[in-house]
Amino acid sequence: MGALISLCEPPVYTGHAMDCIFCKIIEGTIPSKAVYQDEYVFAFTDINPKAPVHLLIVPREHIASLGDTSNDKKELLGHLLRVAAELAGQRGLAKGYRVVVNTGEDGGQTVDHLHLHLLGGRAMTWPPG
Ligand code: 5GP
Ligand code: ZN
Repeated sequence: MGALISLCEPPVYTGHAMDCIFCKIIEGTIPSKAVYQDEYVFAFTDINPKAPVHLLIVPREHIASLGDTSNDKKELLGHLLRVAAELAGQRGLAKGYRVVVNTGEDGGQTVDHLHLHLLGGRAMTWPPG
């Protein structure tokens, strides 16, 4: 799946944040169950799953939240979504799934490293809490 999408721009990593759980997971100092990785993206199972399938898809680059992105991240953001769709397909979520990007305090974001939740394997309710 590494060739899922070829990104035109080389990655520009601003370095890992010293106190960021997801940066530590990406570098391997905190263990995780990885399910996919490529040059730009790392995906792993959520430690506290809210559905039979609950994966987290994160950029290797430390970006605090969706609200901290600008147009130069459009390709990366598209890649994160495509990885989510591929992982959903691999897991047989043909009936559907949900991709969530909690952003900021009101959005319920608890880890300040941009991440997509891929949730599936059960019917989701709406609206979310
Ligand atoms: P947020 O609330 O920021 O949208 O989501 C953060 C997610 O990260 C939560 O679903 C939480 O269970 C997950 N999480 C927090 N710490 C860890 C960890 O150390 N390992 C893994 N695999 N997931 C974590
Ligand atoms: Zn980070």
